[in-house]
Amino acid sequence: MRRISGIMVFLVVVLGLMLPACTEKKHTTSKPIVMVSIQPIKYFVEQIADTLVDVRVMVPPGSSPEMFEPTPGQMVDLSNADIYFAIGLLDFEKGLEPKLKDQLKVRYVNLSGKADLIKEGTEEHDSVGGHHHGVDPHIWMSVEEVRKMSMQILQNLQQLYPAHSDFFSNNYIAFGSKLDSLKEQVNRILGKSSNRAFLVYHPALGYYAREFGLRQISIEQEGKNPSLKGVVDVVDQARRLGVSAVLSQSQFDIRNAQVIADELNLRVVKVDPLAEDWENSMLHIARAISGEHDE
Ligand SMILES: [Zn+2]
Repeated sequence: MRRISGIMVFLVVVLGLMLPACTEKKHTTSKPIVMVSIQPIKYFVEQIADTLVDVRVMVPPGSSPEMFEPTPGQMVDLSNADIYFAIGLLDFEKGLEPKLKDQLKVRYVNLSGKADLIKEGTEEHDSVGGHHHGVDPHIWMSVEEVRKMSMQILQNLQQLYPAHSDFFSNNYIAFGSKLDSLKEQVNRILGKSSNRAFLVYHPALGYYAREFGLRQISIEQEGKNPSLKGVVDVVDQARRLGVSAVLSQSQFDIRNAQVIADELNLRVVKVDPLAEDWENSMLHIARAISGEHDE
């Protein structure tokens, strides 16, 4: 008896010492790191994972994902990440994919794997965007493409963190309802106006145009400033189609957009397809196209 109670006391003391140490450790343990290519993906991941993960974005605000190169500091961040969510159509991602998979053993998810892609220079796409490989990469500007992306995000997060599987599922369902209502709101805003065409500096809204039955006319020609003839063509096309707005992006030089807007007697409205607040950005674009003024 004496020996047993001695062991009991020993255990109680040891466990008593261990318990606060364990809870303490849990508090200081940092969240799992999820890397993403662009800010809208951060928004989608957080819709599903909420604050359970620490989402880090490769392309900083104000930069163009088509011109971007990762920094050495970001490569260190990457090695600490559990997973990388990529659009899968951007040049810098193509260089990262083998490094992530082979050297860093980070799970790489190509979010365009199930996308209904727009091939540029075909009838369904009015203007040649000059993106590499002839595919329009801006899939995140379509509600339905985002729905497919969020399903992939859900499945991967559930595999990595199965303890939170139900939490992720519930959030995914809630996000799905948000997407439904967003689509309705965009349709309602666009329905107030008869304008179905818009001018945009960089052709980032091809999927948006396809989804909502609009026509995108790009000022940029094959990734470059337009020639004089290019400008004249764009102005002609815009007149014919009755364009209501000239959209420009902060990542690009707006002087050409302004020249064309002046010629057509239209306003230049800034839009940001790379904004982290993706839902508001989608609504702002609808208001810009329909000629509603909000800043
Ligand atoms: Zn682009």
